Amino acid sequence: DTPVLRKPDWIRVKAPTSRGFAETQEIVNSKGLVTVCQEAGCPNIGECWTKKHATMMILGEVCTRACSFCNVSTGKPSPVDPSEPERVAEAVREMGLEHVVITSVDRDDLEDGGAMHFVSVIEEIRKASPGTTIEILTPDFLRKDGWENRVIDARPDVFNHNLETVPRLYLSIRPGARYYHSIRLLERVKLRDPNQFTKSGLMVGLGETKEEVMQVMDDMRSAGIDFLTIGQYLQPTRKHAAVERFVHPEEFAAYEEIARAKGFLMVSASPLTRSSYHAGEDFQKLRAA
Ligand code: SF4
Ligand code: SF4
Repeated sequence: DTPVLRKPDWIRVKAPTSRGFAETQEIVNSKGLVTVCQEAGCPNIGECWTKKHATMMILGEVCTRACSFCNVSTGKPSPVDPSEPERVAEAVREMGLEHVVITSVDRDDLEDGGAMHFVSVIEEIRKASPGTTIEILTPDFLRKDGWENRVIDARPDVFNHNLETVPRLYLSIRPGARYYHSIRLLERVKLRDPNQFTKSGLMVGLGETKEEVMQVMDDMRSAGIDFLTIGQYLQPTRKHAAVERFVHPEEFAAYEEIARAKGFLMVSASPLTRSSYHAGEDFQKLRAA
């Protein structure tokens, strides 16, 4: 059994107590929605929910994969709920979101991998809240015969898919996925619709080297990926992959500088950066620039 490393001071979490937090919770509960903020035990929930920023998780709470860093349960998922797109869209409207992030579990059990459900969610949000920019954080659509094209054609503003870690660690960290398949998914988005922004993210502290991270950045840029997030991996429970080390904030700052030099349009690298952390604010800033 690997000993659990003590968390350093820079991993600090504020208790969620604000009014904004309670209001977000109320809307999420009343619509019967699932959020990745809760499922992943995200350390930013106090800050994000206070600002009415939440990441909705569609297609159920049970995943067909079992990534060793992830807190979502694995098993046989329930049938897709056809009322979900409308409920998500109503919540987006009621919260008055400028930007929304929609993600899902992996649905290897569905012929289309859940692609058409993503399309419905995008369409319903556009109808209910036309001003909201939409970011989707998708599964990899591995062996789904091009169904992802339908999602691309629904024209989300940002198409996000996380590489999560360096290729050497895929077998232990992301065993159901394939590094090059994931890179190519994002490359295909850019080729099919050059106006869509593409985005990806990495967790560090899993045993990767700095050189490997830089190689992944180069692979991402070759695939035309626009935005990058890098955050510290935190172990959800003792059963999950252990934290190999806590990466110092200065190392994150160095990654951020390197990534900007490599040409990413938007970079967030810090211990508490998550795929959807500040996604809205950063995107609005970019659009205004
Ligand atoms: Fe939710 Fe993302 Fe914020 Fe975490 S960073 S609380 S997952 S919106
Ligand atoms: Fe978690 Fe996504 Fe892996 Fe499923 S595919 S276990 S939701 S990270």
